[in-house]
Amino acid sequence: MPVLILGGTSDARRVAELLPGSVTSLAGRVRAPRLPPGEVRIGGFGGVAGLVGYLRSAGITAVVDATHPFAAVMTAHAVEACAQAGVPLAILRRPGWTGGVRVPSLAAAAQVLPSLGSRVFLTTGRQDLATFARLDLWFLVRSVDPPDPPVPQRMLSILDRGPFTVEGERALMREHAIDVLVTKDSGAAAVSAKLDAARALDVPILMIDRPPLPSGVPVVETPVAAARFVTDVIMA
Ligand code: NAP
Repeated sequence: MPVLILGGTSDARRVAELLPGSVTSLAGRVRAPRLPPGEVRIGGFGGVAGLVGYLRSAGITAVVDATHPFAAVMTAHAVEACAQAGVPLAILRRPGWTGGVRVPSLAAAAQVLPSLGSRVFLTTGRQDLATFARLDLWFLVRSVDPPDPPVPQRMLSILDRGPFTVEGERALMREHAIDVLVTKDSGAAAVSAKLDAARALDVPILMIDRPPLPSGVPVVETPVAAARFVTDVIMA
């Protein structure tokens, strides 16, 4: 009986490695995603009702929500659908990063940004550029696929995906005379090199806080703990 992993992160791929026979679901945002082992399904479920239908028809025994901490809609849908279908759910949320100038949202980041710098390394993802599009600042934008419009007028787009090295990040920030870094608090170890590089260069970090977690659902911090949760509920 399969376990469903809601994916789109390196942690989700690790959970799939630890749970042979699981199915990983991807949203389909990235053109050539890094695929986990095991079965993969791609695309939205069609809201809560669609996910309830999927859980029932596929005979899913447990769900691990290993989506990115900012994929709050998917997480809310998973909580609601699992409750309706009576399927155990754990949310895998790796610990967040510390430090930086903290703001609660992308919109708040766009407001504060001009006071921090004028040559911005923006790493919030290609779908979140609209919020920054009207700012008269220079942007270095790094994303896996090309950014979606609207984008800032003065922007250099580079296509790349982690893991990155501190040395590489330092060289990139130096090359483009970056004076502020903007990032979501993803907490991912694989992309934290930019934080170390910014600190080494005395570049301020504008950090967007995570959306709150839903209450009443077990939260685990590592792929191993997520796999243990699944084993425990299946054995119970
Ligand atoms: P979102 O806003 O929370 O979700 C919007 C809709 O996308 C969901 O209602 C669902 O459609 C679909 N969806 C999202 N994740 C899915 C998954 N794993 N499998 C199937 N459908 C999914 O999501 P998002 O922030 O756009 O993130 C999309 C994906 O990119 C997620 O898998 C996430 O882990 C990954 N990701 C996101 C970020 C980020 O900054 N948000 C960064 C890196 C990776 P239906 O309602 O039709 O089911």
